[in-house]
Amino acid sequence: MIARTHDLAAITALGIVFVLLPPQSLSLATLIIAVLANLLGGITPDIDQPTAPLWRNLPIGSFFGRIFGKLLGGHRFFTHSIIGVTVIAYLAHLLLLFLQPIMGSVNIDVVWWAFVIGILSHLVMDTFTKEGVPWLLPIPIKFGIPPVRAWRITTDKKIENWIIFPGLLLFNCWFYFLYYDRVIELLRSVTR
Ligand SMILES: [Zn+2]
Repeated sequence: MIARTHDLAAITALGIVFVLLPPQSLSLATLIIAVLANLLGGITPDIDQPTAPLWRNLPIGSFFGRIFGKLLGGHRFFTHSIIGVTVIAYLAHLLLLFLQPIMGSVNIDVVWWAFVIGILSHLVMDTFTKEGVPWLLPIPIKFGIPPVRAWRITTDKKIENWIIFPGLLLFNCWFYFLYYDRVIELLRSVTR
């Protein structure tokens, strides 16, 4: 799937978790940084391909992207597995602990969860595509839903752009309408 769809899926998943399992306290700074971390998490697994947004936007990024992709075993490999997600999540936690002293009122646990939710949503979305996802590496099987490959989605084609992306948008509208009271409650609880 393309970055735009992954980011929408990530923020959708984060919204569901925030509304159904609201954090006990949420400062505005935490909310903003959590949303950014979630969007970053949503595209992080694709650092294994040279065309990833991160590499595209950096000078000589495609060069680093190619090296990184090779190191990570190529596209849809290490970063698209439970073991890879665990390693990335651990490194992100270390980075957050390191940054904590300069982050003031930011709750790094909430930020970390938002990042991890973004990554997991990426893997779930990719599971619906033709290539599948090697969830259980080092077991080299790529899983997909539905199991029949031909019935799955092709990245950046009509189904993704005209059904999945608008479908996610509609889902968000329905979800926030359904839980309107809880959303208001959550927003009211946000502190400075
Ligand atoms: Zn991916």
